[in-house]
Amino acid sequence: MQTKVAAVKCDNYEARAVEQAVRNSLSLLGGISVFIKPGSKVLVKPNLLLPKGPEYAITTHPQVLRAVIKMLKEQGCKIIVGDGPSVWGHYIQNVDEVYAGTGIKQVCQDEGVELVRFDKRRMRQKFPLTTYLDECDHLVSLPKFKTHEMTLITGAVKNLFGLVSGTFKTELHKNYFVPEEFSKILVDIYAEAKPSLTIIDGILAMEGDGPATGGTPRHLGLLLAGADCVALDTVMARIMGVNPLEVLTIKEAARRKLGESDFSKIRIEGEDLNQLKIRPFILPKNSTRLTNLPPLVQKMFKSLVRYYPYSLPLKCTHCGHCVKVCPKQCIAFKRRGIIIDYKKCIACFCCQESCPEAAIGVKKSLLAKLIGL
Ligand code: SF4
Ligand code: SF4
Repeated sequence: MQTKVAAVKCDNYEARAVEQAVRNSLSLLGGISVFIKPGSKVLVKPNLLLPKGPEYAITTHPQVLRAVIKMLKEQGCKIIVGDGPSVWGHYIQNVDEVYAGTGIKQVCQDEGVELVRFDKRRMRQKFPLTTYLDECDHLVSLPKFKTHEMTLITGAVKNLFGLVSGTFKTELHKNYFVPEEFSKILVDIYAEAKPSLTIIDGILAMEGDGPATGGTPRHLGLLLAGADCVALDTVMARIMGVNPLEVLTIKEAARRKLGESDFSKIRIEGEDLNQLKIRPFILPKNSTRLTNLPPLVQKMFKSLVRYYPYSLPLKCTHCGHCVKVCPKQCIAFKRRGIIIDYKKCIACFCCQESCPEAAIGVKKSLLAKLIGL
């Protein structure tokens, strides 16, 4: 059967408009019961990176969560909401700050559903995933439509990284800092924890140096829904103006036959994407998009075209998030801002991703500047 992805327009986050768009997207795919068994226990996982309000386009909008909760309630489901944001670092209490700051806590309170911390985990293959996956019959994933400086896009597959317990995420970044290797880990997690349903919040999307405070919010006015995360990311990449096979997670998932990566074989229900005439997204400076070059050329090129994080001291509040998440422990405070030990830095950009103040920029090597990357 042909893989389907629903694409539905939604211009703003007014509660009724979002609810209608979520309902439309699921009816185009045959209704919610195609994906979720009535009366089942469901874990809903939004993308919650930082304690920032929805206007920053960093996190899944609370109204998207609310609409999904309403539909699950109508199915008589028991609902649990949770995520493992990267600011968790060594302090799980930080998660509560993220839940409050993103507006997710308020929605869960209003709707009377349980909001949990991913504090218990079970080793699955190479990584510990939240035990809520074991307890629930279904996972519903609610990613944000964003660029990502390491994986090019943050979509359906990447959102599942938050199922890994907080401190271990830092370990994975440390051990798999090469984008190709990190993408394989993301695909391992997808293979292990395939969501029954994914709805991508692309009403206010992000372009530029995503996925956090370095990116630029951009109105897109779209929701994407489906069960196949590879197909969803393929559609998302096409909307952004990127060849899907340049996205390493899509390439790896396609190699393992975990989903549909051929855009021509995906049936889009709802909007005709060609008619929407979407301007290509501005991509992160850090994405060198070298995947089509021979490996030896890639290696030589990468050794000369480099990117580094750097401190913007005037914006830094000395909150310490970057210091805690750095897998190489190569960040220290100085009187103003931070200092990075570049001899140890592996350019994983966890620091930039976790900075709530956009106080970490990306510096390019001379060759990267010369060739306009
Ligand atoms: S300084 Fe930033 S980019 Fe470098 S290793 Fe630490 S977290 Fe990663
Ligand atoms: S650079 Fe950002 S994350 Fe690091 S201490 Fe300063 S404000 Fe906090």
